[in-house]
Amino acid sequence: MKKLFLALVVIAGLAALVGVIVTRTEVGQNALFERAMQTQFARTPDTFDGLRVVVCGSASPLGNSPERAQACIAVVTPEHFFLFDVGARSPLRISQARLPTNRLNGVFITHYHSDHIAALPDVNLTTWVQGRSAPLPVYGPPGIERVIEGFNIAYELDRSYRTAHHGEELLPPNVGPMQAVAFAPGNVVWQDERMTISAFAVEHPPIAPAVGYRIDYGGRSVVISGDTNAADGLFAAAQNADLVLHDALSRAMLDPMIEGATSANVPVLPQIMNDVIDYHADTLSLPDAAAAAGIRQLVYYHLVPAPPNSIAEAIFRRGLPDSVILAQDLHTFDLPTGSSDIIVHEP
Ligand SMILES: [Zn+2]
Ligand SMILES: [Zn+2]
Repeated sequence: MKKLFLALVVIAGLAALVGVIVTRTEVGQNALFERAMQTQFARTPDTFDGLRVVVCGSASPLGNSPERAQACIAVVTPEHFFLFDVGARSPLRISQARLPTNRLNGVFITHYHSDHIAALPDVNLTTWVQGRSAPLPVYGPPGIERVIEGFNIAYELDRSYRTAHHGEELLPPNVGPMQAVAFAPGNVVWQDERMTISAFAVEHPPIAPAVGYRIDYGGRSVVISGDTNAADGLFAAAQNADLVLHDALSRAMLDPMIEGATSANVPVLPQIMNDVIDYHADTLSLPDAAAAAGIRQLVYYHLVPAPPNSIAEAIFRRGLPDSVILAQDLHTFDLPTGSSDIIVHEP
């Protein structure tokens, strides 16, 4: 018994020594790093035969949790890759989710609040340096031309440096600027043989236009609300959708925050928090309307305020049916074609 114990101690000691040699010596570090690089560059993004929806940002501007990026939803099929809004920090999630950035077809914007557009220049640059061969189209309701013109001007010098440094063949200057594509809500705004994307007006006063999107692919469907109240237009457009990702505001969480900030005499913030109440959807206003519209899975994703921990999440969930999912960043929903399954991958 004693011998066995001694042998185990010796083995553990040797293992620790090997660990030290591998991690603390240049030879060991180089070997580990080379292996990591081989894995990273050889990786191929996951492929999935159907409509895959990835939450790349589930936060709102209120409460800057390091756990959550701002609004961003990725929609991926074997033939398509679109992003719907790209708020701050969403490029990190896009990368973590191993999304196929080398074949990004375009970005759709719901409205021009900063938490929906802030990462446009990063997404543009990342896909440009990965070999995108045409300017990145950015679709949105009227106003998109102005937003894109502004970003293109702000990043003009950056683009010129990169082309000067790496050469026109690698980074052609005509591919660098984003291309605005404006549409009128209420229409099909993008279509090919397999996918249809339509936009509908939502209610986010005083912001107008603000739109949501419905994406249909292979008999499966997802609706993305953007920022809105519980809007009749959305539920009309979302009839019988498989999946609806909806903006949601929790009074159970927000009201005590307003009270706390007011009694602590915090300037400005209490009024700001009060003002947002009427332009996001109350968590309790959606489940019945979603059920009446035949929606199969309701997911809350633009969480106002984003709950920072499990206790806050329990407060956010109060009064909700268990079937409603509160999205976290990197929550993934797979809708296989030729099936009615909704496969949920927790982050
Ligand atoms: Zn927002
Ligand atoms: Zn907004």
